[in-house]
Amino acid sequence: MKLGRLSTLALRNRREGLAQRLPHLEETLRGSLIQRFMSCGHPDCKCARGERHGPFWYLSVTLGPGRTTGGVAGKGQLERVRRWVENYRQGKSHLEQISEINRELLRRERQKAGT
Ligand SMILES: [Zn+2]
Repeated sequence: MKLGRLSTLALRNRREGLAQRLPHLEETLRGSLIQRFMSCGHPDCKCARGERHGPFWYLSVTLGPGRTTGGVAGKGQLERVRRWVENYRQGKSHLEQISEINRELLRRERQKAGT
């Protein structure tokens, strides 16, 4: 998106629209849902012979380079977790766009002031 071609009014309207469409921040969760199979550890279980249990939905969260954490999302939690993860993704994208617009607005302010 070339913001430079939009009028200042259009930028402000876009920014307002993005802010209004931010998800409820209390319903956000950073991470990815992935499917996993697991072994229960019982030596007599079929999983010990390679037939692992699952699939389970697992929430994987990156904490830093090479560091992740997470946990199983229970059946009753799955839809909520899915929604929260999507809300986070969308909210982050909106905030990025708002930041970009604000940088452009600041640039125009300086240009106008001749500084
Ligand atoms: Zn097992």
